Amino acid sequence: AARPTLPPFNGTGTTADGHRVPLLANVGGGEEAAVAAAAGAEGVGLLRTEFCFLNRTEEPTVEEQVEAYKAVFDAFPGKKVVVRTLDAGADKPLPFLTDATEPNPALGVRGYRTDLTSPGVLERQLAAIAQAAAQSQAQVWVMAPMISTAGEAGRFATLCADAGLKTSGVMVEVPSAAVTAGSILKRVDFVSLGTNDLTQYTMAADRQLGPLAALNDPWQPAVLRLVQATVDGARQAAAGEQEPAKPVGVCGESAADPALAVVLVGLGVATLSMTARSLPGVAAVLGSTTLEQARELAALALSADSAAEARAAVRSKLPILE
Ligand code: PEP
Ligand code: MG
Repeated sequence: AARPTLPPFNGTGTTADGHRVPLLANVGGGEEAAVAAAAGAEGVGLLRTEFCFLNRTEEPTVEEQVEAYKAVFDAFPGKKVVVRTLDAGADKPLPFLTDATEPNPALGVRGYRTDLTSPGVLERQLAAIAQAAAQSQAQVWVMAPMISTAGEAGRFATLCADAGLKTSGVMVEVPSAAVTAGSILKRVDFVSLGTNDLTQYTMAADRQLGPLAALNDPWQPAVLRLVQATVDGARQAAAGEQEPAKPVGVCGESAADPALAVVLVGLGVATLSMTARSLPGVAAVLGSTTLEQARELAALALSADSAAEARAAVRSKLPILE
């Protein structure tokens, strides 16, 4: 029988017992941001800025960048917009930043690392983000992709502060960053788990290869444990400073899988960011479980020996998915 259509997302992600989990959107530019705002997204958890400039052979000017970012900010006045600096390379080549002849692009000069080979591009991008933020009402947060060490996170935070950007963070999408999340969070204000790349790098399985799809599954026990390690790192860093833990979000596709979204919340993830069309499904399943149940489901997923077992065990406890 056909499933009844889901009610539209009402713009406030909560568990059944009222624990708030802001549901944000992943967008690639102003048009998608408008669609996400209309779908009730509570903000943007990932603006993929490289999508604004695909196919460009030259670095966009600061003015062009200001215009592109402002179009996104203007769709979310008063709301949070997390801007990711250019994540060029591997599956998202940008001719002005990346070298198409690298033998191993996923392990190459990509994301934050392009600052090694093209110095200045990142500073100009941060200046453009700061200018666009100053002309808008959005609460602008900035994060760097492909961070592997606390040192890189610290340097990114300094560059953001120099550009006048108050809130800086990094993506956790490399296993080394998940394992060292506590030291990273001494240097930045938040982290966002990019589970697409985190899965690829944890399982050593190219995310673009169909035959490796079963390995490339964010329900894999190793991936769930790295999510747990990241949240634990955030809690430990905060306990040392006697402060509330800094937020750990998720902006990979895993957040769009309603059963996995509940597990992520149970593991201690604070916000979920996903493609806008997934918001109603995730909101409905989240709203059907209490935080305590989400924690139990997270424990169940962590105790499974395989991705398939974890998924089946969790789904069997979520009657709304039947
Ligand atoms: C990710 O890696 O999970 C992520 C959100 O970034 P992208 O898919 O753009 O690499
Ligand atoms: Mg990524």
